[in-house]
Amino acid sequence: MNRTSYRGRFAPSPTGELHFGSLIAAVGSYLDAKANGGEWIVRIEDVDITRCRPEYETSILQTLEAFGFEWDGPVFRQSGRREYYRDVFESLKKKGFVYGCACTRKEIADFASGIDGAPVYPGTCRNGLPPGKTARAWRLRVPDRVIAFDDAIQGHQSQNLEKDVGDFILLRTDGLFAYQLAVAADDIAQEISHVVRGADLLASTPRQIWLYECLGEKAPAYAHLPLAVNEAGEKLSKQTRAKPIRTNDPAVPLRAALRFLNLHPDKTGSSLHDLWNWAIMNWSVENVPRKQTIKSPI
Ligand code: GLU
Repeated sequence: MNRTSYRGRFAPSPTGELHFGSLIAAVGSYLDAKANGGEWIVRIEDVDITRCRPEYETSILQTLEAFGFEWDGPVFRQSGRREYYRDVFESLKKKGFVYGCACTRKEIADFASGIDGAPVYPGTCRNGLPPGKTARAWRLRVPDRVIAFDDAIQGHQSQNLEKDVGDFILLRTDGLFAYQLAVAADDIAQEISHVVRGADLLASTPRQIWLYECLGEKAPAYAHLPLAVNEAGEKLSKQTRAKPIRTNDPAVPLRAALRFLNLHPDKTGSSLHDLWNWAIMNWSVENVPRKQTIKSPI
């Protein structure tokens, strides 16, 4: 891959409508791309077809349009890219990084939890399936060493994948490719140079960096934005009943998103276009706070 310029992306999963938390990811990634003279791509992450709905995709794209986001090229959809994920998966398998796993969820449920709350896979099937068992899912071998990176907002990060996560799933029991594989494969295919997204994905990043390494690719630069939380301190999501963003007056939620990212436009009543131009001129990833103490303002 020959990456010479900035290319960023916004990669929503159409599992619900756009809420304030996803607006932050859209605004942060957009401003960082535009302020760096880069391209900005929209990728619909509907690889998990069991959780995604086309009407949410339509609504997310309409909301982005109403806010005046301008994306480069056509919208990417993961649901149409199974063959490509299969090729990436096969190339990892050929290199010996992948193995079949017969363990059920129940069999590993009691192991100690790792970095993202799920049990650390103990490697039961790593050296071959137990006699009489067949593979249910396919896992990527991870190394017993620290994977570190410098996040432009969250600072230095490090993780030992074997101790903190364990060999993780690339191809699920239900035959669907896992988020980690699809996201790394797509960021590579789309030549993404900068990933700007919510801090809920910070713990996934070393897994993605390891996938890049296995595929012989250079990982992008990362910036993980502070998370918007609700009154109960929970991340905004469909599960926590985050309210969809209203688009009747987009400047209002856009101003709230800018304030959240530590940008404070002073002129009230300026057009959406002026607001964007001001924000692009004034954006600085260094000024974004690591954590937000204020709750979602809308
Ligand atoms: N599709 C993921 C989400 O909506 C984002 C993935 C990413 O930005 O890497 O949470």
